[in-house]
Amino acid sequence: MNRAESERLESLFQHLGYLPTTTASEADLIVLNSCVVRQHAEDRIVNKINALKKLKNSPQPPTLAVTGCLVDSNTTRLKHRFPHVDHFLKPGEYPTWLVKSKPFPILPQQPSPSTYVPIIQGCNNFCSYCVVPYRRGREKSRPVSEIVNEVKELARRGVKEVVLLGQNVDSYGHDLPDKPDLTHLLYELNGIDGIVRIRFLTNHPKDMNNRLIEAIAKLGKVCRQINLPVQAGDDKVLKAMGRGYSVESYRQLVARIRSQVPDISMSTDIVVGFPSESEEQFQATVDLLRELRFDSVHVATYSPRPDTTAARNLEDNVPPSVKKERLDTIERLQKKIATEINGQLLGKTVEVLVEGKRKGRWHGRSRSGKLVFFSENGELLGKIVKVKIEKTSPWALQGRIYG
Ligand code: SF4
Repeated sequence: MNRAESERLESLFQHLGYLPTTTASEADLIVLNSCVVRQHAEDRIVNKINALKKLKNSPQPPTLAVTGCLVDSNTTRLKHRFPHVDHFLKPGEYPTWLVKSKPFPILPQQPSPSTYVPIIQGCNNFCSYCVVPYRRGREKSRPVSEIVNEVKELARRGVKEVVLLGQNVDSYGHDLPDKPDLTHLLYELNGIDGIVRIRFLTNHPKDMNNRLIEAIAKLGKVCRQINLPVQAGDDKVLKAMGRGYSVESYRQLVARIRSQVPDISMSTDIVVGFPSESEEQFQATVDLLRELRFDSVHVATYSPRPDTTAARNLEDNVPPSVKKERLDTIERLQKKIATEINGQLLGKTVEVLVEGKRKGRWHGRSRSGKLVFFSENGELLGKIVKVKIEKTSPWALQGRIYG
């Protein structure tokens, strides 16, 4: 979401006549887009803001603005804490000191062949560990017509794939007058010429319904890839997290998805070291991952976030060394599982949307979301090519153009 918002802000500034620079000391305007989902991310952004203080003493000091989840409703407190920052913008807010009224959605000027499209902002779930609802506010969906027009315009600018974004895409539309849902939106977008792939994230296991699963199975442009965060493999921990589902109902949901969309690629998110998570409860998470075998797992250690119910009511009592050990255990297990899953692609041919070049090699993603590298002469950016896989690793595939 931050990346999508940064891309759009960058376009807005270019639209207003600004040019990008990679050197902070050359800039007239510096906007930092912050993430505070974990303490580590918050520490990094705070260090960055403080490091920019010296530029404010230069002969031509830049305007300094901070946006993203560091910016809560109490901007007075932030102004006291960082007096050298000129403007604080809440997530998704526009620079009101430069544009008087909210501009029409500004799209990335030179969009990548795969472009993020936010469809719903905020979250109503209040999982006990999560700061997002406090910083991004309640769910607010963008109208279907606005998204459809935007995706048509992106297609006109050469975009081939859109990645629909929301903290919980399964809630999309409930706050709009005619109550469309994500499935409805997918049907609309599937009909847009030029767009060949549609992805979406993130799903919430308590909200994902059968209509959506059927749409994934049926709609040709919707990629068979789902991110379905489970967070923990123990019911007591899930309850304390306020997730609203049980391990068994999650298991059944995964089984339902896999029976209706057999070739689906699945990923999940895990938090380890939640307050009072016992060794046994952690082991249940490990067992669940071993059983369900995801293509990828994003694992993070718990860190108490301000305002959240877990931070207010629960003691952060799992020692850092234990959290780290649990994180390593999951990463080791997932490396093994991903090695096996990706290894099955050896010798197979996958369809890749070429997204760019890194160290002289083209890269892109397969329909199932696997990162693929290959070497080839000529201009291939934005092209769809077939790549025969010759080497696999847990994180990426390598091959050569086939046919
Ligand atoms: S659903 Fe996601 S964004 Fe919303 S509160 Fe829970 S973890 Fe945070």
